[in-house]
Amino acid sequence: MSSTVTRQTFEEVMVPTYAPAEIIPVRGQGSRWWDQAGRDYIDFAGGIAVNVLGHAHPSLLKALNEQAQKLWHVSNVMTNEPALKLARRLTELTFAEKAFFCNSGAEANEAAFKLARRWGNTNFGPHKNTIISFHNAFHGRTLFTVCVGGQPKYAQGFEPLPAGIRHLPFNDVAALEAAMNDTVCAVVMEPIQGEGGVLPATPEFARAARALCDRHRALLIFDEVQTGNGHTGTLYAYEQMGVTPDVMTTAKGLGGGFPIGAMLTTSEIAKTLQFGTHGSTFGGNPLACAVANAVLDEITSPAIAANVKARSQQLKDGLAELGRRHGFFEAPRGNGLLLGAPVVEGWKGRARDIMAAALKEGTWLLVAGPDTLRFAPALNISEAEVADGLQRLDRALAALATTLAAA
Ligand SMILES: *Cc1c(COP(=O)(O)O)cnc(C)c1O
Repeated sequence: MSSTVTRQTFEEVMVPTYAPAEIIPVRGQGSRWWDQAGRDYIDFAGGIAVNVLGHAHPSLLKALNEQAQKLWHVSNVMTNEPALKLARRLTELTFAEKAFFCNSGAEANEAAFKLARRWGNTNFGPHKNTIISFHNAFHGRTLFTVCVGGQPKYAQGFEPLPAGIRHLPFNDVAALEAAMNDTVCAVVMEPIQGEGGVLPATPEFARAARALCDRHRALLIFDEVQTGNGHTGTLYAYEQMGVTPDVMTTAKGLGGGFPIGAMLTTSEIAKTLQFGTHGSTFGGNPLACAVANAVLDEITSPAIAANVKARSQQLKDGLAELGRRHGFFEAPRGNGLLLGAPVVEGWKGRARDIMAAALKEGTWLLVAGPDTLRFAPALNISEAEVADGLQRLDRALAALATTLAAA
């Protein structure tokens, strides 16, 4: 067995669900990381909205190391101090009164959807089982969550599929009004559709969803897996919307790179999931919860809030300027450090090509669907790192223009 691994090894030994970049990152610091060849990259992707404090943050390292010396895992036959502290923190910081811990966004949503079904069944009867969600929504990759998600291609070929799910156009109040009835147990939405193109829910739509859920006694579930943990300028995006959900899911940034997810709700609704109704072996394990507590300490600080605001403006201004000058994309939409720049008409379907050109020049950004460049950097990204990343992107766009002119 060879001890060196290269990108070619991926083709040899990995299930081909992904098509990773040709380079392999090996080390990171702040919003910069290095590949196997020692080349550095500016990280505008944040591991897809996960590395909220960048790489190798001292407080997270300290929390991880301290907990690692004490206790890694005990199972849910015992509770543990880091999990209890994290649940207390999350319930103090949000509308929620109860937490359920798991290991990913999909698992948090799976718990929320199972809760909604059981809540409908227990309180109103088996007819109350319809889940309403929206076109282009993304809720994870388990069978239930791809089916609730609004991108049919992710469920294709996996039939038979779970039933009782309806998809409506996003931000269409009339369509939601028409579809609501007393068989609906939940309406689930992302405050900003992340994978769907960084598309914010309009305030009218969010308010209408809240009012319709109240009228038809359905749960309003906010999937804040991507919008949460400070990315949009508040700890959770719902805080800016004047709308409070009944159930909220969070994951991605919650562990700053350590896998953890949570489903949060009120005490009244949480009663539905009595002893034995749901569970997870690793969910709420001490290591993950200790790191998440350290993440929350940092991202709730005024310094981080101020940095998100300043870096958001810097990045927005810089991208708008690059868009004007090079003409590949338009000014970004979104909030805080979750931004999406739509490509111009002639570049529809080719956001991925711009992402690849940027990576070549040493800046890593994301796409959200075929038509949007997505930026989800760490909340503590520095002014110099943003400036460096924008300069590299500038060079990448110039190179792309030269290639086009030559072709
Ligand atoms: C990433 C994401 C998920 C899925 O999270 P996983 O940790 O990959 O399971 C669910 N919902 C939203 C909004 C996401 O962005």
